Amino acid sequence: MNDFLSDCRSAIGEHYVVTDHTDMAGYLTDWRRRFTGKALAILKPGSTEEVALLVKLCNQYRVPLVPQGGNTGLVLGSVPDDSGNAVVLSLTRLNHIRATDIINNTITVEAGCILQTIQNAATDVDRLFPLSLAAEGSCTIGGNLATNAGGTAVLRYGNMRELCLGLEVVTAQGEIWSGLRGLRKDNTGFDLRDLYIGAEGTLGIITAAVLKLFPQPKARLTALAAMHTPNAALKLLSLAQSHCGATLTGFELMSDFCLQLVVKHYPQMRLPFPQSSPQYVLLEISDNESAEHAEATLERLVTDALEQEVIHDAVVASSMAQSKGLWNLREHIPLAQADEGKNIKHDVSVPISLIGEFITRTDALLAAQFPGCRLVTFGHLGDGNLHYNVSPPEGEAGDALIASQSDINRVVHDSVDHFGGSISAEHGLGAMKRDEIRRYKSDVEMRLMERIKTALDPLNLMNPGKVV
Ligand code: FAD
Repeated sequence: MNDFLSDCRSAIGEHYVVTDHTDMAGYLTDWRRRFTGKALAILKPGSTEEVALLVKLCNQYRVPLVPQGGNTGLVLGSVPDDSGNAVVLSLTRLNHIRATDIINNTITVEAGCILQTIQNAATDVDRLFPLSLAAEGSCTIGGNLATNAGGTAVLRYGNMRELCLGLEVVTAQGEIWSGLRGLRKDNTGFDLRDLYIGAEGTLGIITAAVLKLFPQPKARLTALAAMHTPNAALKLLSLAQSHCGATLTGFELMSDFCLQLVVKHYPQMRLPFPQSSPQYVLLEISDNESAEHAEATLERLVTDALEQEVIHDAVVASSMAQSKGLWNLREHIPLAQADEGKNIKHDVSVPISLIGEFITRTDALLAAQFPGCRLVTFGHLGDGNLHYNVSPPEGEAGDALIASQSDINRVVHDSVDHFGGSISAEHGLGAMKRDEIRRYKSDVEMRLMERIKTALDPLNLMNPGKVV
Protein backbone atom coordinates (compact mmCIF):
# COMPACT_ATOMS: atom_id res chain seq x y z
CA MET A 1 0.00 0.00 0.00
CA ASN A 2 3.00 2.29 0.27
CA ASP A 3 3.16 2.52 -3.54
CA PHE A 4 -0.54 3.41 -3.63
CA LEU A 5 -0.16 6.19 -1.06
CA SER A 6 2.96 7.47 -2.74
CA ASP A 7 1.10 7.65 -6.11
CA CYS A 8 -1.78 9.47 -4.36
CA ARG A 9 0.74 12.00 -2.98
CA SER A 10 2.15 12.54 -6.46
CA ALA A 11 -1.39 13.01 -7.82
CA ILE A 12 -2.74 15.57 -5.34
CA GLY A 13 0.18 16.72 -3.20
CA GLU A 14 1.68 15.37 0.03
CA HIS A 15 -0.34 17.66 2.25
CA TYR A 16 -3.67 16.30 1.01
CA VAL A 17 -2.99 12.64 1.78
CA VAL A 18 -3.67 12.45 5.50
CA THR A 19 -2.37 9.38 7.37
CA ASP A 20 -1.78 10.80 10.84
CA HIS A 21 -4.20 9.08 13.27
CA THR A 22 -5.14 12.24 15.13
CA ASP A 23 -5.82 14.14 11.90
CA MET A 24 -7.86 11.24 10.48
CA ALA A 25 -10.05 10.80 13.57
CA GLY A 26 -12.80 13.28 12.65
CA TYR A 27 -13.38 11.53 9.31
CA LEU A 28 -13.72 8.05 10.78
CA THR A 29 -16.50 8.51 13.34
CA ASP A 30 -20.11 9.11 12.34
CA TRP A 31 -22.07 12.20 13.40
CA ARG A 32 -23.97 10.39 16.16
CA ARG A 33 -20.72 8.82 17.44
CA ARG A 34 -22.02 5.29 17.20
CA PHE A 35 -19.26 3.87 15.04
CA THR A 36 -15.58 4.49 14.36
CA GLY A 37 -14.02 2.86 11.32
CA LYS A 38 -10.45 2.62 10.06
CA ALA A 39 -8.85 3.87 6.85
CA LEU A 40 -5.54 3.76 5.02
CA ALA A 41 -5.73 7.51 4.53
CA ILE A 42 -7.99 10.49 4.03
CA LEU A 43 -7.60 11.82 0.48
CA LYS A 44 -8.51 15.46 -0.13
CA PRO A 45 -8.54 16.23 -3.87
CA GLY A 46 -8.92 19.84 -4.98
CA SER A 47 -10.52 19.38 -8.41
CA THR A 48 -12.63 16.99 -10.48
CA GLU A 49 -9.50 15.96 -12.40
CA GLU A 50 -7.77 15.06 -9.13
CA VAL A 51 -10.81 13.00 -8.06
CA ALA A 52 -10.59 11.14 -11.37
CA LEU A 53 -6.85 10.48 -10.89
CA LEU A 54 -7.48 9.10 -7.40
CA VAL A 55 -10.32 6.84 -8.55
CA LYS A 56 -8.06 5.46 -11.28
CA LEU A 57 -5.39 4.74 -8.66
CA CYS A 58 -8.00 3.01 -6.49
CA ASN A 59 -8.87 0.85 -9.51
CA GLN A 60 -5.23 0.09 -10.20
CA TYR A 61 -4.46 -0.93 -6.60
CA ARG A 62 -7.99 -2.32 -5.87
CA VAL A 63 -8.50 0.07 -2.95
CA PRO A 64 -12.13 0.70 -1.92
CA LEU A 65 -13.11 4.31 -1.32
CA VAL A 66 -15.71 6.02 0.81
CA PRO A 67 -16.85 9.43 -0.47
CA GLN A 68 -17.46 11.93 2.29
CA GLY A 69 -18.89 15.46 2.44
CA GLY A 70 -19.81 17.02 5.79
CA ASN A 71 -20.09 13.61 7.53
CA THR A 72 -23.52 14.54 8.92
CA GLY A 73 -25.25 11.47 7.46
CA LEU A 74 -27.30 9.46 9.92
CA VAL A 75 -27.07 5.91 8.52
CA LEU A 76 -23.33 5.14 8.68
CA GLY A 77 -22.87 5.79 4.96
CA SER A 78 -19.98 8.24 5.10
CA VAL A 79 -17.53 6.34 7.32
CA PRO A 80 -15.42 3.31 6.38
CA ASP A 81 -15.80 -0.10 8.02
CA ASP A 82 -13.18 -1.31 10.50
CA SER A 83 -11.13 -3.38 8.04
CA GLY A 84 -8.73 -0.50 7.43
CA ASN A 85 -8.55 -1.37 3.68
CA ALA A 86 -10.36 1.69 2.34
CA VAL A 87 -9.61 5.35 1.87
CA VAL A 88 -11.98 8.20 2.69
CA LEU A 89 -12.31 10.60 -0.23
CA SER A 90 -13.21 13.95 1.29
CA LEU A 91 -14.84 16.34 -1.20
CA THR A 92 -14.63 19.42 1.00
CA ARG A 93 -11.93 21.16 -1.08
CA LEU A 94 -14.23 21.14 -4.12
CA ASN A 95 -16.07 24.14 -2.73
CA HIS A 96 -16.42 26.67 -5.53
CA ILE A 97 -19.58 28.17 -6.93
CA ARG A 98 -18.87 27.90 -10.63
CA ALA A 99 -21.70 29.96 -12.12
CA THR A 100 -25.05 31.59 -11.48
CA ASP A 101 -27.64 32.15 -14.21
CA ILE A 102 -30.55 34.23 -12.98
CA ILE A 103 -32.51 34.01 -16.24
CA ASN A 104 -32.26 30.21 -16.27
CA ASN A 105 -32.70 30.27 -12.48
CA THR A 106 -29.77 27.95 -11.88
CA ILE A 107 -26.58 27.82 -9.88
CA THR A 108 -23.64 25.52 -10.70
CA VAL A 109 -21.75 24.39 -7.62
CA GLU A 110 -19.02 21.95 -6.66
CA ALA A 111 -19.88 18.98 -4.49
CA GLY A 112 -18.04 20.17 -1.38
CA CYS A 113 -19.96 23.47 -1.10
CA ILE A 114 -21.68 23.74 2.28
CA LEU A 115 -25.47 23.91 1.87
CA GLN A 116 -25.70 27.22 3.76
CA THR A 117 -23.08 28.78 1.44
CA ILE A 118 -25.29 27.91 -1.54
CA GLN A 119 -28.40 29.30 0.17
CA ASN A 120 -26.49 32.55 0.84
CA ALA A 121 -25.14 32.72 -2.74
CA ALA A 122 -28.72 32.39 -4.00
CA THR A 123 -29.90 35.16 -1.66
CA ASP A 124 -27.11 37.40 -2.96
CA VAL A 125 -28.70 37.28 -6.42
CA ASP A 126 -32.24 37.68 -5.01
CA ARG A 127 -33.08 34.02 -5.51
CA LEU A 128 -33.94 31.14 -3.21
CA PHE A 129 -32.27 27.75 -2.98
CA PRO A 130 -34.91 26.04 -0.88
CA LEU A 131 -33.23 22.91 0.51
CA SER A 132 -33.13 23.46 4.26
CA LEU A 133 -32.24 21.11 7.09
CA ALA A 134 -30.83 21.38 10.59
CA ALA A 135 -27.35 20.27 9.45
CA GLU A 136 -27.19 22.97 6.73
CA GLY A 137 -24.18 24.71 8.33
CA SER A 138 -22.00 21.62 7.84
CA CYS A 139 -23.51 19.24 5.27
CA THR A 140 -22.35 19.54 1.65
CA ILE A 141 -24.38 19.60 -1.53
CA GLY A 142 -22.58 16.42 -2.70
CA GLY A 143 -23.84 14.62 0.41
CA ASN A 144 -27.30 16.16 -0.06
CA LEU A 145 -27.39 14.80 -3.61
CA ALA A 146 -25.93 11.42 -2.72
CA THR A 147 -28.63 10.96 -0.05
CA ASN A 148 -31.42 12.70 -1.99
CA ALA A 149 -31.91 14.89 1.09
CA GLY A 150 -35.34 16.17 2.04
CA GLY A 151 -35.65 18.70 4.88
CA THR A 152 -38.32 21.21 5.76
CA ALA A 153 -39.40 22.61 2.38
CA VAL A 154 -40.10 19.41 0.40
CA LEU A 155 -43.83 20.08 0.56
CA ARG A 156 -43.45 23.03 -1.82
CA TYR A 157 -40.12 22.51 -3.63
CA GLY A 158 -39.47 18.76 -3.58
CA ASN A 159 -36.43 16.87 -2.36
CA MET A 160 -32.89 17.09 -3.71
CA ARG A 161 -33.67 15.00 -6.79
CA GLU A 162 -36.27 17.57 -7.83
CA LEU A 163 -33.90 20.46 -7.17
CA CYS A 164 -31.12 19.20 -9.43
CA LEU A 165 -30.95 19.65 -13.21
CA GLY A 166 -27.50 18.31 -14.02
CA LEU A 167 -24.49 16.53 -12.55
CA GLU A 168 -20.78 16.11 -13.05
CA VAL A 169 -19.67 12.66 -11.90
CA VAL A 170 -16.43 10.73 -11.70
CA THR A 171 -17.41 7.19 -12.57
CA ALA A 172 -16.20 4.10 -10.73
CA GLN A 173 -13.56 3.70 -13.48
CA GLY A 174 -12.30 7.28 -13.10
CA GLU A 175 -13.92 8.78 -16.22
CA ILE A 176 -15.44 12.27 -15.94
CA TRP A 177 -19.08 12.46 -17.02
CA SER A 178 -19.90 16.11 -17.57
CA GLY A 179 -23.67 16.25 -17.40
CA LEU A 180 -23.88 19.83 -16.12
CA ARG A 181 -26.92 20.69 -18.21
CA GLY A 182 -29.29 23.34 -16.96
CA LEU A 183 -32.21 21.86 -18.90
CA ARG A 184 -35.70 21.48 -17.56
CA LYS A 185 -36.60 19.18 -20.42
CA ASP A 186 -34.24 16.48 -21.70
CA ASN A 187 -35.71 13.15 -22.76
CA THR A 188 -32.67 11.58 -24.33
CA GLY A 189 -32.51 8.12 -22.88
CA PHE A 190 -31.87 6.75 -19.42
CA ASP A 191 -31.74 9.36 -16.66
CA LEU A 192 -28.17 8.88 -15.44
CA ARG A 193 -28.49 11.89 -13.14
CA ASP A 194 -31.26 10.23 -11.16
CA LEU A 195 -29.19 7.07 -10.89
CA TYR A 196 -26.35 8.84 -9.08
CA ILE A 197 -28.67 10.96 -6.91
CA GLY A 198 -29.60 8.93 -3.83
CA ALA A 199 -26.96 6.23 -4.57
CA GLU A 200 -25.00 7.21 -1.42
CA GLY A 201 -21.68 7.12 -3.24
CA THR A 202 -22.03 3.47 -4.28
CA LEU A 203 -21.99 4.12 -8.05
CA GLY A 204 -19.60 7.07 -8.52
CA ILE A 205 -18.46 10.39 -7.09
CA ILE A 206 -20.56 13.50 -7.62
CA THR A 207 -18.18 16.42 -8.17
CA ALA A 208 -20.53 19.24 -9.26
CA ALA A 209 -24.19 19.97 -9.93
CA VAL A 210 -26.56 22.43 -11.59
CA LEU A 211 -29.29 23.33 -9.09
CA LYS A 212 -32.64 25.04 -9.52
CA LEU A 213 -33.21 28.49 -8.03
CA PHE A 214 -36.57 30.09 -7.24
CA PRO A 215 -37.80 33.65 -6.72
CA GLN A 216 -37.22 34.90 -3.19
CA PRO A 217 -40.58 35.04 -1.46
CA LYS A 218 -41.56 38.55 -0.32
CA ALA A 219 -42.48 37.26 3.12
CA ARG A 220 -42.20 34.10 5.15
CA LEU A 221 -44.51 33.66 8.07
CA THR A 222 -44.86 30.92 10.61
CA ALA A 223 -47.65 29.81 12.92
CA LEU A 224 -47.80 27.24 15.69
CA ALA A 225 -51.14 25.51 16.20
CA ALA A 226 -52.23 23.19 19.02
CA MET A 227 -54.54 20.23 18.47
CA HIS A 228 -55.57 16.97 20.13
CA THR A 229 -54.58 14.30 17.61
CA PRO A 230 -52.43 13.65 14.52
CA ASN A 231 -55.70 13.21 12.59
CA ALA A 232 -56.66 16.77 13.54
CA ALA A 233 -53.25 17.83 12.20
CA LEU A 234 -54.14 16.13 8.90
CA LYS A 235 -57.42 18.08 8.76
CA LEU A 236 -55.41 21.25 9.34
CA LEU A 237 -53.11 20.25 6.46
CA SER A 238 -56.08 19.97 4.15
CA LEU A 239 -57.49 23.33 5.31
CA ALA A 240 -54.06 24.95 4.96
CA GLN A 241 -53.71 23.67 1.41
CA SER A 242 -57.12 25.16 0.53
CA HIS A 243 -56.27 28.53 2.11
CA CYS A 244 -52.63 28.84 1.11
CA GLY A 245 -52.21 26.72 -2.05
CA ALA A 246 -48.62 26.61 -3.25
CA THR A 247 -47.54 29.21 -0.67
CA LEU A 248 -47.63 26.52 2.05
CA THR A 249 -43.94 25.63 2.38
CA GLY A 250 -43.67 23.86 5.73
CA PHE A 251 -45.92 21.67 7.81
CA GLU A 252 -44.23 19.98 10.77
CA LEU A 253 -45.91 17.80 13.38
CA MET A 254 -44.52 17.68 16.93
CA SER A 255 -45.93 15.76 19.87
CA ASP A 256 -46.17 17.46 23.26
CA PHE A 257 -43.45 15.14 24.62
CA CYS A 258 -41.01 16.44 21.96
CA LEU A 259 -41.53 20.02 23.04
CA GLN A 260 -41.43 19.14 26.75
CA LEU A 261 -37.97 17.66 26.12
CA VAL A 262 -36.90 20.87 24.36
CA VAL A 263 -37.97 23.16 27.23
CA LYS A 264 -36.47 20.72 29.78
CA HIS A 265 -33.03 20.76 28.16
CA TYR A 266 -33.14 24.31 26.79
CA PRO A 267 -34.96 26.25 29.55
CA GLN A 268 -34.43 29.55 27.72
CA MET A 269 -37.01 28.34 25.18
CA ARG A 270 -40.71 28.61 25.93
CA LEU A 271 -43.92 27.28 24.50
CA PRO A 272 -46.16 30.19 23.52
CA PHE A 273 -49.31 28.62 25.06
CA PRO A 274 -50.57 28.75 28.66
CA GLN A 275 -51.44 25.04 28.60
CA SER A 276 -49.88 22.11 26.84
CA SER A 277 -51.67 20.16 24.14
CA PRO A 278 -51.07 16.59 22.87
CA GLN A 279 -49.96 17.67 19.38
CA TYR A 280 -48.64 20.77 17.63
CA VAL A 281 -48.12 21.80 14.03
CA LEU A 282 -45.57 24.34 12.92
CA LEU A 283 -46.62 25.67 9.55
CA GLU A 284 -44.95 28.15 7.28
CA ILE A 285 -46.08 30.08 4.25
CA SER A 286 -43.85 31.82 1.74
CA ASP A 287 -45.82 34.64 0.19
CA ASN A 288 -44.98 36.32 -3.09
CA GLU A 289 -47.07 39.47 -2.40
CA SER A 290 -46.26 41.01 0.99
CA ALA A 291 -45.91 40.42 4.73
CA GLU A 292 -49.42 41.85 5.23
CA HIS A 293 -50.86 39.43 2.71
CA ALA A 294 -49.08 36.52 4.40
CA GLU A 295 -50.36 37.56 7.81
CA ALA A 296 -53.93 37.95 6.53
CA THR A 297 -53.80 34.49 4.91
CA LEU A 298 -52.54 32.83 8.07
CA GLU A 299 -55.06 34.70 10.25
CA ARG A 300 -57.90 33.50 7.98
CA LEU A 301 -56.63 29.92 8.14
CA VAL A 302 -56.31 30.00 11.94
CA THR A 303 -59.80 31.51 12.38
CA ASP A 304 -61.31 28.88 10.11
CA ALA A 305 -59.49 26.03 11.90
CA LEU A 306 -60.56 27.34 15.31
CA GLU A 307 -64.19 27.71 14.19
CA GLN A 308 -64.21 24.16 12.81
CA GLU A 309 -62.60 22.97 16.07
CA VAL A 310 -59.72 21.38 14.18
CA ILE A 311 -57.31 23.21 16.51
CA HIS A 312 -57.87 24.78 19.91
CA ASP A 313 -55.13 27.40 20.01
CA ALA A 314 -52.62 29.05 17.70
CA VAL A 315 -50.05 31.81 17.51
CA VAL A 316 -49.03 33.56 14.32
CA ALA A 317 -45.50 34.98 14.43
CA SER A 318 -45.55 38.71 13.90
CA SER A 319 -41.86 39.08 13.03
CA MET A 320 -38.96 37.14 11.57
CA ALA A 321 -37.53 36.86 15.10
CA GLN A 322 -40.71 35.20 16.34
CA SER A 323 -40.77 32.89 13.32
CA LYS A 324 -37.19 31.92 14.07
CA GLY A 325 -38.12 31.26 17.69
CA LEU A 326 -40.85 28.84 16.60
CA TRP A 327 -38.51 27.05 14.18
CA ASN A 328 -35.93 26.84 16.96
CA LEU A 329 -38.36 24.75 18.99
CA ARG A 330 -38.67 22.32 16.08
CA GLU A 331 -34.97 22.21 15.33
CA HIS A 332 -33.99 21.56 18.94
CA ILE A 333 -36.02 18.34 19.19
CA PRO A 334 -33.20 16.02 17.93
CA LEU A 335 -30.72 17.84 20.19
CA ALA A 336 -33.00 17.60 23.23
CA GLN A 337 -33.59 13.92 22.57
CA ALA A 338 -29.83 13.36 22.43
CA ASP A 339 -29.43 15.32 25.70
CA GLU A 340 -32.06 13.09 27.29
CA GLY A 341 -29.88 10.02 26.64
CA LYS A 342 -29.68 7.02 24.35
CA ASN A 343 -32.48 6.59 21.86
CA ILE A 344 -33.51 4.73 18.73
CA LYS A 345 -34.34 6.71 15.61
CA HIS A 346 -36.66 5.82 12.75
CA ASP A 347 -36.97 7.94 9.63
CA VAL A 348 -40.11 6.58 8.02
CA SER A 349 -42.82 7.60 5.58
CA VAL A 350 -46.36 6.41 4.95
CA PRO A 351 -49.06 7.86 2.71
CA ILE A 352 -49.96 11.20 4.31
CA SER A 353 -53.59 10.24 4.88
CA LEU A 354 -52.53 7.20 6.97
CA ILE A 355 -50.15 8.95 9.37
CA GLY A 356 -52.71 9.19 12.20
CA GLU A 357 -53.53 5.48 11.93
CA PHE A 358 -49.84 4.61 11.74
CA ILE A 359 -49.07 6.51 14.94
CA THR A 360 -52.04 5.02 16.85
CA ARG A 361 -51.26 1.45 15.80
CA THR A 362 -47.49 1.61 16.29
CA ASP A 363 -47.73 3.43 19.65
CA ALA A 364 -50.04 0.65 20.89
CA LEU A 365 -47.78 -2.16 19.64
CA LEU A 366 -44.71 -0.63 21.29
CA ALA A 367 -46.52 0.14 24.56
CA ALA A 368 -47.60 -3.51 24.76
CA GLN A 369 -44.17 -4.97 24.04
CA PHE A 370 -41.86 -2.37 25.59
CA PRO A 371 -43.79 -0.84 28.50
CA GLY A 372 -42.69 2.63 29.59
CA CYS A 373 -40.68 3.48 26.47
CA ARG A 374 -41.24 7.11 25.50
CA LEU A 375 -42.03 8.07 21.93
CA VAL A 376 -40.52 11.17 20.40
CA THR A 377 -42.67 11.59 17.31
CA PHE A 378 -42.19 14.56 15.01
CA GLY A 379 -41.52 15.27 11.39
CA HIS A 380 -42.47 16.57 8.01
CA LEU A 381 -46.18 15.70 8.15
CA GLY A 382 -46.82 17.47 4.86
CA ASP A 383 -44.56 14.89 3.16
CA GLY A 384 -45.86 11.87 5.09
CA ASN A 385 -42.42 11.65 6.76
CA LEU A 386 -42.10 11.01 10.49
CA HIS A 387 -39.11 10.78 12.78
CA TYR A 388 -40.62 8.13 14.98
CA ASN A 389 -37.99 7.91 17.72
CA VAL A 390 -37.96 5.87 20.90
CA SER A 391 -36.44 6.96 24.22
CA PRO A 392 -36.07 4.69 27.27
CA PRO A 393 -38.50 4.75 30.20
CA GLU A 394 -38.08 7.76 32.53
CA GLY A 395 -35.01 7.39 34.73
CA GLU A 396 -33.42 4.59 32.66
CA ALA A 397 -30.04 5.12 30.96
CA GLY A 398 -31.15 3.38 27.79
CA ASP A 399 -28.84 0.34 27.70
CA ALA A 400 -31.80 -2.05 27.93
CA LEU A 401 -33.55 -0.10 25.19
CA ILE A 402 -30.51 -0.30 22.89
CA ALA A 403 -30.24 -4.04 23.59
CA SER A 404 -33.79 -4.36 22.24
CA GLN A 405 -33.09 -2.19 19.20
CA SER A 406 -33.60 -4.86 16.55
CA ASP A 407 -36.91 -5.96 18.15
CA ILE A 408 -38.10 -2.35 18.31
CA ASN A 409 -37.03 -1.74 14.71
CA ARG A 410 -38.96 -4.82 13.67
CA VAL A 411 -42.19 -3.57 15.28
CA VAL A 412 -41.85 -0.09 13.77
CA HIS A 413 -40.70 -1.16 10.31
CA ASP A 414 -43.29 -3.93 10.01
CA SER A 415 -45.93 -1.37 10.92
CA VAL A 416 -44.56 1.00 8.26
CA ASP A 417 -44.76 -1.85 5.76
CA HIS A 418 -48.33 -2.61 6.86
CA PHE A 419 -49.27 0.92 5.72
CA GLY A 420 -47.33 0.70 2.45
CA GLY A 421 -44.57 3.01 3.68
CA SER A 422 -40.77 3.29 3.50
CA ILE A 423 -38.27 2.51 6.27
CA SER A 424 -36.01 5.31 5.06
CA ALA A 425 -37.81 8.46 3.99
CA GLU A 426 -34.85 10.81 3.68
CA HIS A 427 -31.66 9.55 5.35
CA GLY A 428 -30.85 6.66 2.99
CA LEU A 429 -29.74 3.12 3.81
CA GLY A 430 -25.98 3.39 4.40
CA ALA A 431 -24.58 0.44 6.32
CA MET A 432 -27.28 0.74 8.96
CA LYS A 433 -30.33 -0.31 6.96
CA ARG A 434 -28.59 -2.28 4.21
CA ASP A 435 -29.70 -5.66 5.50
CA GLU A 436 -33.03 -4.48 6.95
CA ILE A 437 -34.22 -3.24 3.54
CA ARG A 438 -34.16 -6.79 2.12
CA ARG A 439 -37.17 -7.61 4.27
CA TYR A 440 -39.23 -4.83 2.70
CA LYS A 441 -38.21 -4.64 -0.96
CA SER A 442 -39.20 -7.36 -3.37
CA ASP A 443 -36.57 -9.78 -4.72
CA VAL A 444 -37.01 -8.25 -8.16
CA GLU A 445 -36.35 -4.74 -6.82
CA MET A 446 -33.24 -5.91 -4.93
CA ARG A 447 -31.92 -7.81 -7.98
CA LEU A 448 -32.36 -4.74 -10.20
CA MET A 449 -30.42 -2.61 -7.71
CA GLU A 450 -27.65 -5.24 -7.51
CA ARG A 451 -27.41 -5.47 -11.31
CA ILE A 452 -27.06 -1.70 -11.61
CA LYS A 453 -24.34 -1.72 -8.95
CA THR A 454 -22.46 -4.53 -10.71
CA ALA A 455 -22.78 -2.86 -14.10
CA LEU A 456 -21.47 0.53 -12.93
CA ASP A 457 -18.99 -0.62 -10.29
CA PRO A 458 -17.90 -4.16 -11.21
CA LEU A 459 -14.92 -4.11 -8.83
CA ASN A 460 -17.16 -3.03 -5.92
CA LEU A 461 -14.81 -0.22 -4.93
CA MET A 462 -17.39 2.55 -4.49
CA ASN A 463 -18.48 2.72 -0.84
CA PRO A 464 -18.67 -1.08 -0.49
CA GLY A 465 -20.97 -2.49 2.16
CA LYS A 466 -23.44 0.37 1.85
CA VAL A 467 -26.95 0.27 0.33
CA VAL A 468 -26.62 -3.09 -1.55
P1 FAD B 1 -22.02 12.76 4.31
O1 FAD B 1 -22.60 12.46 5.65
O2 FAD B 1 -20.58 13.07 4.27
O3 FAD B 1 -22.33 11.53 3.32
C1 FAD B 1 -23.61 11.01 3.20
C2 FAD B 1 -23.60 9.91 2.11
O4 FAD B 1 -23.34 10.49 0.85
C3 FAD B 1 -22.51 8.87 2.30
O5 FAD B 1 -22.98 7.64 1.82
C4 FAD B 1 -21.37 9.37 1.43
O6 FAD B 1 -20.52 8.32 1.00
C5 FAD B 1 -22.13 9.99 0.29
N1 FAD B 1 -21.46 11.13 -0.33
C6 FAD B 1 -21.10 12.30 0.25
N2 FAD B 1 -20.60 13.14 -0.67
C7 FAD B 1 -20.64 12.49 -1.85
C8 FAD B 1 -20.27 12.84 -3.18
N3 FAD B 1 -19.76 14.03 -3.48
N4 FAD B 1 -20.45 11.93 -4.17
C9 FAD B 1 -20.99 10.71 -3.90
N5 FAD B 1 -21.35 10.33 -2.66
C10 FAD B 1 -21.19 11.22 -1.65
N6 FAD B 1 -31.33 14.68 6.10
C11 FAD B 1 -32.47 14.97 5.43
O7 FAD B 1 -32.68 14.47 4.33
N7 FAD B 1 -33.42 15.80 5.97
C12 FAD B 1 -33.26 16.40 7.17
O8 FAD B 1 -34.13 17.13 7.62
C13 FAD B 1 -32.06 16.11 7.89
N8 FAD B 1 -31.83 16.70 9.08
C14 FAD B 1 -30.66 16.45 9.73
C15 FAD B 1 -30.42 17.09 10.94
C16 FAD B 1 -29.23 16.87 11.62
C17 FAD B 1 -28.98 17.59 12.94
C18 FAD B 1 -28.25 15.99 11.09
C19 FAD B 1 -26.95 15.74 11.77
C20 FAD B 1 -28.49 15.35 9.89
C21 FAD B 1 -29.69 15.56 9.20
N9 FAD B 1 -29.95 14.94 7.98
C22 FAD B 1 -31.10 15.23 7.30
C23 FAD B 1 -28.99 13.97 7.42
C24 FAD B 1 -27.79 14.60 6.67
O9 FAD B 1 -27.52 15.89 7.04
C25 FAD B 1 -28.04 14.56 5.20
O10 FAD B 1 -28.07 13.22 4.82
C26 FAD B 1 -26.99 15.29 4.33
O11 FAD B 1 -27.53 15.35 3.05
C27 FAD B 1 -25.64 14.63 4.30
O12 FAD B 1 -24.69 15.52 3.72
P2 FAD B 1 -23.14 15.39 4.07
O13 FAD B 1 -22.37 16.32 3.21
O14 FAD B 1 -22.91 15.52 5.53
O15 FAD B 1 -22.87 13.89 3.59
